[in-house]
Amino acid sequence: LSEAPMALTPSDAGWDNLMGTAPGPRMNATFVTLARNSDIWDIARSIRQVEDRFNKRYNYDWVFLNDKPFDATFKKVTTSLVSGKTHYGEIPHEHWSFPDFIDQDKAKKVREDMAQRKIIYGDSVSYRHMCRFESGFFFRQPLMMNYEWYWRVEPSIELFCDIHYDPFRYMAENKKKYSFVLSLYEYVETIPTLWDSVKKFMKNNPEHIAEGNSLAFLSDDGGDTYNHCHMWSNFEVGNLNWLRSKAYIDFFESLDRDGGFFYERWGDAPVHSIAAGLLLKKEEIHFFNDIAYYHVPFTHCPTGEKTRLDLKCHCNPKDNFDWKGYSCTSRYFDLNGMEKPEGYENQQD
Ligand code: GDP
Ligand code: MN
Repeated sequence: LSEAPMALTPSDAGWDNLMGTAPGPRMNATFVTLARNSDIWDIARSIRQVEDRFNKRYNYDWVFLNDKPFDATFKKVTTSLVSGKTHYGEIPHEHWSFPDFIDQDKAKKVREDMAQRKIIYGDSVSYRHMCRFESGFFFRQPLMMNYEWYWRVEPSIELFCDIHYDPFRYMAENKKKYSFVLSLYEYVETIPTLWDSVKKFMKNNPEHIAEGNSLAFLSDDGGDTYNHCHMWSNFEVGNLNWLRSKAYIDFFESLDRDGGFFYERWGDAPVHSIAAGLLLKKEEIHFFNDIAYYHVPFTHCPTGEKTRLDLKCHCNPKDNFDWKGYSCTSRYFDLNGMEKPEGYENQQD
């Protein structure tokens, strides 16, 4: 008569540790997600992948931000999925509303016009608040003040490869301030006067412009015009102290005053990218080739079969966007004198 083997149940101590906790120090870092209550099942999928591929061994915290109070289901489900501590913050009204210097009628006419021209999110007020919040306020919410590093995660993203090291620690040890996995050209219709506003800032604040910056990633004519290249901000690992610096805050406030978050539809991606490109030294911006990522409609799947097999990747290398015509990543490689990975020529179309 043999006894059934003893099964470990989730409530047993040690269940979460079966895969082991990564040794080594932890950085003062958190994941951060802006979401609505209705995003719960889409953010649950993102969290599950971030945990499975990385955080179950590192147990970093996760901050959730919302312009409305999070409901009980949102909190219960996300807390059960995150291996670190979870924190929930409600955004103050002044970070999610029209500043008093904005002409409401003018902003409304812009939205009606953009709706007619079928510009994506062109008619949306909330999307504009979202872009302004991510550009100028998420990093100074009280919950975020406790941390030095952040990793932004959006609903419905995918991670396709294991992450075998701590990206926060990589950033800290290599003096990086901002990072990306996908880059592309912005829709011109959403930012027609953004570069004029940036040029005004550069003229008024030359002290903030870094020597050895990445202007050549953003402009093909020495800064006269914008080539619309930007790093996608739905994935970011970055340094919060940089975003809280006088240089960045002056940059944000100068742009904000010009009104383009409401009179046009400036996205936080070009705003962050232009700031990183001008205010940081080029070595401070990192491209994470080994973090394989999807946000509709683009995929970053690492070039190089060995990397994909070693990291148990499940992305199709044919889907990799990096070397296609609409990506700006090869400009980043050229600017930084980096050698493109083996096999990139075969992925150009
Ligand atoms: P897209 O990626 O540009 O298509 O925009 P998303 O719809 O993914 O929005 C970007 C991020 O902001 C996501 O994390 C959303 O969950 C969040 N978001 C967008 N609109 C709102 C909103 O009105 N309220 C809140 N709380 N979050 C929002
Ligand atoms: Mn999104």
